[in-house]
Amino acid sequence: MSAGAAPTCLTCHYALTGVRDSRCPECGRAFNPADPTTFGPREPRHIRIARRCANAQPSLRFCVLLGIGLLVVTILAAPIWHSNVLPYLVIWLALYGCWCTGLVTCSLARLFLRIRGIRCGFPTWRWLLVFFICVGGAYLAVTNAPLRLAAAISHASLARHAAAFQQPNTSPPRFIGLFHVSRASHDASSGVTTIEVRPIFAIAPPPMAFRKGDADIEFANMHLNLADGWRLEWEKDVPLTAPPWKAPRQTKNPATSATPSR
Ligand SMILES: [Zn+2]
Repeated sequence: MSAGAAPTCLTCHYALTGVRDSRCPECGRAFNPADPTTFGPREPRHIRIARRCANAQPSLRFCVLLGIGLLVVTILAAPIWHSNVLPYLVIWLALYGCWCTGLVTCSLARLFLRIRGIRCGFPTWRWLLVFFICVGGAYLAVTNAPLRLAAAISHASLARHAAAFQQPNTSPPRFIGLFHVSRASHDASSGVTTIEVRPIFAIAPPPMAFRKGDADIEFANMHLNLADGWRLEWEKDVPLTAPPWKAPRQTKNPATSATPSR
């Protein structure tokens, strides 16, 4: 440490004690008495490097950007896990690799400095923050949380609209909840109502827009069959409330008044 030692010139090692004009009398190199980095004795290079490594930590801005980035990647990636898992696996492996490298480097540098009897700060919590952000992002993606959330939020709306498709000549709205509707039909013989949808945030076409584990999801009385192009099916005899764009008197008894003139 340079605190207690007598100041010397960084270039020629001339003793600067008592020098008044902030300039080495021997070689002319300038120095600032208030800034210990402008004069010697300078810390050995390996100590300086170790100190820099020990103090390395992700900035708060980096943590925030990382969290936002992972959330966006998760929302975009979740529907296409089934066929495109590799790019996202690479992203998370790279993130964990960076985190491990940073933390290990930090810890080794601190250990080295402590053995040398040099105190140094060690900000661990931001490394942990990065770790938890990465784990959270991976968890959201693996559980396909955005899709499940969209289905849960849109469930009441989907159930409401499904009643209308049990009547012929009913054209579905473009959007139901957080889903874009591509087709809706009702099979009178089997009594199954089918709505083909895709999440509004999906970036892949429906056939590849699902994850294997999500091929068959139940949301209350709604059957979300993703394995067949985002089909939403309702069994018959499921009590469904009237759709919002139908007059109440037309939907009281769909079986007998099934001739809407629209
Ligand atoms: Zn000098």
